Amino acid sequence: MKHISLIGSTGSIGESTLSVIRAHPTRFKVSALAVRANVSKLLMQIKEFEPQLVCVYDEKAAHRLRKALGRRALKVLSGNDGLNEVAKMPQSDVVLCAAVGACGLGAIFSAIEAGKAVGIANKEPLVVAGHLIMKKARERKTHVLPIDSEHSAIWQCLQNLNGHTEKTVERLILTASGGPFFGKTRWELRAVTPSQAVNHPRWRMGRKISVDSATLMNKGLEVKEAHHLFDIPLERIDVLIHRQAVIHSMVEFVDGSHMAQLAVNDMKLPIQFALSYPERLRSQVPKLDFLKIHSLTFERPDRRTFPCLDLACSTWRQGGTAPAVLNAANEIAVARFLNGDLSFLGIPNLIERVLARHRSVTNPDLNQILEADSWAREEAMRI
Ligand code: MG
Repeated sequence: MKHISLIGSTGSIGESTLSVIRAHPTRFKVSALAVRANVSKLLMQIKEFEPQLVCVYDEKAAHRLRKALGRRALKVLSGNDGLNEVAKMPQSDVVLCAAVGACGLGAIFSAIEAGKAVGIANKEPLVVAGHLIMKKARERKTHVLPIDSEHSAIWQCLQNLNGHTEKTVERLILTASGGPFFGKTRWELRAVTPSQAVNHPRWRMGRKISVDSATLMNKGLEVKEAHHLFDIPLERIDVLIHRQAVIHSMVEFVDGSHMAQLAVNDMKLPIQFALSYPERLRSQVPKLDFLKIHSLTFERPDRRTFPCLDLACSTWRQGGTAPAVLNAANEIAVARFLNGDLSFLGIPNLIERVLARHRSVTNPDLNQILEADSWAREEAMRI
């Protein structure tokens, strides 16, 4: 039986995680739940999964929950301190972080420090502080479990290598569905709306990541995520558009062999593999019907129409605090686009302008990263 602390339980990944846990009551048990502010959904989850500890990040919402729980004896925490408590609680074996954006970074460090296996579903913590997270995990001899579908695919292809990745892997190939605006010209993208941008053709996801998929920033973030998770140099990670989204990513080996992971688009599968690792369990995810797929196609990404991909990759090569700045500026740019305050094409422009004003610190520690993050957020709001 594995005990799980889930950060971000009311979001899309959080709910998929709970349905994996629900389907395997003899294997997984919820020990703690954390949410930002969605108290009504959390109340239902508390009833069903009976956690020993909950955290509501927003203090006012936490107060509402305490009132609603009445005399029921359940510890309700709030803020970053609350998240850290959830992350290091002695009863849990795995901490799954599915918060939005770079939120949850401190909790991830607390969990690793406490020796927990950590599943990181929001890629932003690895993007801004991947070198520190992986170093800490090596020191504490614990696992960072990939949850993102592409990274789960690569991880599955790398099983049984016994750590010989460096000598045997030539390239990682991240596949991208291309998002809702695949094939469009810049002219056609001038006036696209938030509701068009979040209407992803293959995956149902939260709003932030849906916009990132539409700009291809998501794939840029995933390149850095893969670099840290698998310790592969950035220049050996490629991106390929694969519209059918049947292959979730591939590994090319030095001898010319390729391995790919194929499955239907359902986040329950990578989540379950991370939770059951190193075992594989039955799942409710339907099997692929190859006769209905007909063909698998591959194309180069259109880097001119979707400049976020190259913007991200050149920022990763630069390193230092620049990745944190790009990430923070992107979070604000996406929020402003969703609010109708910025055009779709304005997203990369805004990020570029913030990056141009930043003086990058090399080999930053966590405080320098957090400083760069809040500086970039302010700049991105102000411009
Ligand atoms: Mg992904």
